[in-house]
Amino acid sequence: MTHDAPTPEGQLMVVATPIGNLGDLSRRALALLESADVVYCEDTRRSRTLFSAHGIVARQRLQALHQHNEASQCDEIVERIRRGAVVVVISDAGTPGISDPGTRVVAAVIAAGLRVSTAPGPTALIGALSVSGLPTERFVMEGFLGRKVGERALRYESWRREDRTIVFYESPQRLATTMVELARHFPERRVAVVRELTKVHEEVLRGTVAQVSTLIAAREILGEIVVVLEGAPVAEAVSDELVVSALREHLGRGQSLRDAVNEVAEQLGVAHRETYERALRLRADEGRG
Ligand code: SAM
Repeated sequence: MTHDAPTPEGQLMVVATPIGNLGDLSRRALALLESADVVYCEDTRRSRTLFSAHGIVARQRLQALHQHNEASQCDEIVERIRRGAVVVVISDAGTPGISDPGTRVVAAVIAAGLRVSTAPGPTALIGALSVSGLPTERFVMEGFLGRKVGERALRYESWRREDRTIVFYESPQRLATTMVELARHFPERRVAVVRELTKVHEEVLRGTVAQVSTLIAAREILGEIVVVLEGAPVAEAVSDELVVSALREHLGRGQSLRDAVNEVAEQLGVAHRETYERALRLRADEGRG
């Protein structure tokens, strides 16, 4: 167990910055950027723009922290915090660690027994989910899908039974291909393609995957994009193994086939006929075994 008790020594602050609209920098984030001993950022030039837009003086406080040097910077950051520094980590946009550098540093500071806290704020993931119109109670973030055909196919396969809302980041160059692939697997599911959130060209395309895919094939979609995909209907999400193990449990209690089927179909929200057919196959298999 770890315990983040306040220490006089200094700490790591994970600070969220705007994903487009500069007005989305919170007052607390601004104060931290002004007062921090060091600010680690992905691209010092980009962060200087943010600093000057808000009248913050950077001096020598900006240090680079990107995917290529994050591992090697961890020791230095831990040492600074141990010596009492307040170290802020930001990324180019949004929340550090969300498809961005930051997670390794956070883990290193925790492992050293030092304090980590956050000034939370913008992230494209939550912004897109909140305007998608899709269920938000349970969702899964898939980051970027990547380019490899095999890896993408595996993700689509795992989404067949995924009943939570699925969110992922996508590049404008790959969006059309991804939508065609999604339309092949999940044409009837609802989707929201969210682009340029908080910026001038903010837009959300909503509809079934088949509809939105057709729309996107017909026009160029530019800018930064998040795709929010409806999860599987509960009946599809329930795996065969789950139905079988529930049937086994009910039959094992001495219930009749008919009662077991009725109860399992009701409990798992799956079709009665399919459950009945599955129960017949189970009985036949077990009779043979
Ligand atoms: N850390 C960031 C966050 O918290 O959202 C994400 C960084 S990731 C490298 C960049 C991706 O986030 C973009 O390619 C896009 O998919 C998404 N993104 C960032 N800003 C966005 C915006 N304003 N509108 C839509 N998507 C955005």
